[in-house]
Amino acid sequence: MGKLETPPGARFTCQSCGLCCRNWSIAVTEEERQVLAAHDWVAEYPDLRDVPFFTRSGSHPATGQPLHRMRLRSDGTCPFLAPDGLCRIHKSLGGRAKPVVCRTYPYTVAYTPVGTFVGLRFSCPTVVANGGAPLAEDHKYLKDLARDFRALAQPGAAAEEASTAAVEAEWADAAAVERCVGGIFERPCGLAEKVELACRVLALLAEAKQESIRGRVGGFLEVMTPEVEAQRTGPAEGVQAPLPNERLLFRDLLHHICMREYVAYARSGFRARLAIRFRALCDSFRFRFNAGRVHLTGLPVPIPLTAPAEVASPVDDPVVAEMLTRYVLTKMFAKNYYGRLFAEWGQLPGLSLLLLSLGAIAWFARASAWARGARVSTYEDFRFGVRYVDYTLGASDLFARKIIRFQMGPILRPDTVRKLCLSYLLPAGPTAAAGT
Ligand code: SF4
Repeated sequence: MGKLETPPGARFTCQSCGLCCRNWSIAVTEEERQVLAAHDWVAEYPDLRDVPFFTRSGSHPATGQPLHRMRLRSDGTCPFLAPDGLCRIHKSLGGRAKPVVCRTYPYTVAYTPVGTFVGLRFSCPTVVANGGAPLAEDHKYLKDLARDFRALAQPGAAAEEASTAAVEAEWADAAAVERCVGGIFERPCGLAEKVELACRVLALLAEAKQESIRGRVGGFLEVMTPEVEAQRTGPAEGVQAPLPNERLLFRDLLHHICMREYVAYARSGFRARLAIRFRALCDSFRFRFNAGRVHLTGLPVPIPLTAPAEVASPVDDPVVAEMLTRYVLTKMFAKNYYGRLFAEWGQLPGLSLLLLSLGAIAWFARASAWARGARVSTYEDFRFGVRYVDYTLGASDLFARKIIRFQMGPILRPDTVRKLCLSYLLPAGPTAAAGT
């Protein structure tokens, strides 16, 4: 499995708040289903009589075994969630009987030829607050977890990655890009300035002839970064407004992020599924045309899609900036950025999406502020934004789909990311004001 690496300074201890046991219809393998189905739940918890626990959801792509999902209650909670907020599977059968998705949340694991990298999902409020014990102290637990997770994802897969000189050189190049972008995010400057500079460095890499820099990306960046820095104009000046098609695709990305509620309820039965699909279609049109209202899970009122443009973004508030910087650094350290993106798309689109997600977070933070009648988003709104965005992007295979890759490709160019991201990150961006 290689050396286990955890993000520097990251902390986590579950606070048993039960938030991850709501609105999330998690995957359950046939083996896990059999263990749970064999237990007499009604003898222990009479309220579980006639409660359906699972719903069928296709087959495992590698083994062909049936896959299932937790069948959520009508209020969106897991059927095993007890009124005290604790998990009944954990209480009755122990933590190891829980489905692997529950056991591994909120961790992410990326297996690479240079080690196994653990990351965290910012959909968990404790991760957002960086609360609990340092991850570095929990290596034994995380190692076991990584082993289980891998065995489940790829039954029978060889434990070690092939490690050749060519593969190592490729990873050394990837590490050099991470060091450079990470170094930018660790600077004591404003977040918008960091995004601007990071996008310029990514643009430089995208324009460079890949064959000529292969194996020596570190040296290339060392020479070129000071030049890029000298040329920059500063985020507030010279930010062009995104083009109409870029704005439309960004809104489409926001729509995909909002699909979380549909993912959660899509397993609740045929009729509910039909209703959900219809709503999804209507929402998709609303987002594309930037018109009408949408209901975002967690907000008390549906928001008009033009509303976020009316809200200012205090992104240089030190607490907000610290949280978003930690978010970028943790995700980057964890290597897979979003889902399988890094493995399947390559590093530059992965990093571009990570930076673009900051723009999406700012959009949701503005929506949250608007919903409570405020005109400036606060740290709490950004907490909502980061959890909302990471909930979908951190857990779904959305960006592994070729069609989405094709669709989103044009807005993952570093220059476009810069324009879109700064529009929402800056206190009153040029396009935010124009109603992106
Ligand atoms: S949301 Fe986080 S803190 Fe709350 S129960 Fe889930 S893992 Fe624990």
